[in-house]
Amino acid sequence: MLYRVLAEALEKLEQASGYLEKNAIIVDLLKRTAVEEMDRVVYLLLGRPWPTYVSKETGVGIQQMKKAISTASGHSLKEIENLMARIGDLGEVAKLLAERRKQVVLFSEPLTVEKVFDRVKSLPDVTGEGSVDRKIALISELLTSATPIEAKFIVRTVLGDLRIGVAEGRMRDAIAATFNLPPEIVEHAYMLTTDYAIVAKAAAQGVGTLRKLGVTLGHPVSPMLAQRAESVDEILERMGGKAAFEIKLDGIRIQTHKNEDKITLFTRRMEDYTSMFPDLVDPIRKALNPKRVIVDGELVAMDKDRQKPMPFQEVLKRRRKYGIEKAAEQIPIEIYLFDVLMVEGRSVIDKPYKERREILEQIVTSVPGKVMIVEKIVTGKKEDILKFLKHSLSLGHEGLVAKDLESPYRAGRREFLWLKLKPEVDTVDLVVVGAHYGKGKRAGTFGSYVLAARDEKTGRYKTVTRCGSGYTDKDLKELTEFFNRIKLEKPSDEVDIEIECDAYFKPEVIFEVAFEEIQLSPPEKHTGGVGLRFPRFIRIREDRRPEEATTIEEIMQMYRTQHGRKGGELNAERSPFPKGRG
Ligand code: AMP
Repeated sequence: MLYRVLAEALEKLEQASGYLEKNAIIVDLLKRTAVEEMDRVVYLLLGRPWPTYVSKETGVGIQQMKKAISTASGHSLKEIENLMARIGDLGEVAKLLAERRKQVVLFSEPLTVEKVFDRVKSLPDVTGEGSVDRKIALISELLTSATPIEAKFIVRTVLGDLRIGVAEGRMRDAIAATFNLPPEIVEHAYMLTTDYAIVAKAAAQGVGTLRKLGVTLGHPVSPMLAQRAESVDEILERMGGKAAFEIKLDGIRIQTHKNEDKITLFTRRMEDYTSMFPDLVDPIRKALNPKRVIVDGELVAMDKDRQKPMPFQEVLKRRRKYGIEKAAEQIPIEIYLFDVLMVEGRSVIDKPYKERREILEQIVTSVPGKVMIVEKIVTGKKEDILKFLKHSLSLGHEGLVAKDLESPYRAGRREFLWLKLKPEVDTVDLVVVGAHYGKGKRAGTFGSYVLAARDEKTGRYKTVTRCGSGYTDKDLKELTEFFNRIKLEKPSDEVDIEIECDAYFKPEVIFEVAFEEIQLSPPEKHTGGVGLRFPRFIRIREDRRPEEATTIEEIMQMYRTQHGRKGGELNAERSPFPKGRG
């Protein structure tokens, strides 16, 4: 295919605004693309000659690009800088200058998609002495034979910023429409490969080929996700009376691919994090017995003194480009494996959980303190489950994940086959002081309420959370009717609030709210200085007056003890679940 066809489609995409309009342009382009070119066209449409999970860049910056444009156009660097200052986009600058020398194009071979693709793809491999100049020469050679529109998009592609507003997610519908396939099949193929270029090429060959796409070593698979369960009873009911219960760790989801000696670590968002955890690579290589294997797990940071996991934020500190070695010393990490997706080239995702877990246990030789298998029990007995939950919490972990014994690994899906069970720290009684209108289905009703706790010292009400979940449709309707009758234009005098609301209220009504964690909050957000994570409406406390609301001091006290509680002081008498709503 001529590159001109692609560049013209990119130009149209940049100008198009609506979803349908953009979709039609992509569909038209894909329909004109031959099967053997499909992957290249899709990659270039998405702006890079690699799938998104490959963390490669061309290594060409703005300054080098200015030089390449200067060489190709015969205009001085100064002129290019002036134009850049005026236009603000080097792609447009290249286009403008190419327009001024139309005659050159007549003598050169038209560019093909293949040539542009291969050239851009080769740039990262140009290394060593003189590589900067060689890269400039390679780009300017392309620009010399480019039409104005081609020049614009070559520049933008090399700089890694296509600016046409086509997100990867859009490809699902475009591919489905082009080849007349159900979007779910296209999506499923993407969940397994994380690469729309491969998916489009297979789709072009027919639904049979598309269905054959599967788990491939080196390509991250979208991780299977968990729904939240409200109670042990709910889990047992959904899972047929018996299930596997694993410790739920709070860290970073990591999918490990081992291909001979090469280890690659992908995050939940399919980014390659291998270079960030060099201290884990060797132990993982040793722990995994097969030559070629994909396993799933959670990476956690350990506090070596307390022998407890550190909060999730600590793991994130390891996510850095520089000072990796030092961070590795300060924040040691370990990985707990809980699933296996491929062994020696064969996908095992369609096998039931219980078989995958057996395989996992056979193929992993634990490296204590570095690579381990997540602890689990299989049971249908409520007291065993609660005991195991307590055990998990006493080790400083988050709770449990229940897994359906018969379930396959459902890539990219959040279904009821995995259910997470986390205790809510507690409930509090808070005063309603403001509200925001909802969106979509909730338009016209208040969709979330701003809640405050009382400051005992001053008697004022200070905000601590915004609560938008836990309401039934009926709750939302009734609450809106009620609060509409008492709404104020401005915050009530006795309330300290920084959040701008659609309506304000006198502190009169009390909500009981469950939450997972208390965090410190900047006073410009919540005037109470603390905030609740994952708040959930339980009910109105009609039996309580505002003066009886939970106080800021009480919430601070809960904040100070919450890690201790996570650390095992869970009261055996106290159910880890809030009182249900009946
Ligand atoms: P959440 O992030 O709250 O939706 O919980 C799901 C996440 O818990 C997964 O994506 C994993 O990162 C993490 N997790 C921790 N332990 C496990 C486990 N044993 N099985 C599955 N996921 C786990």
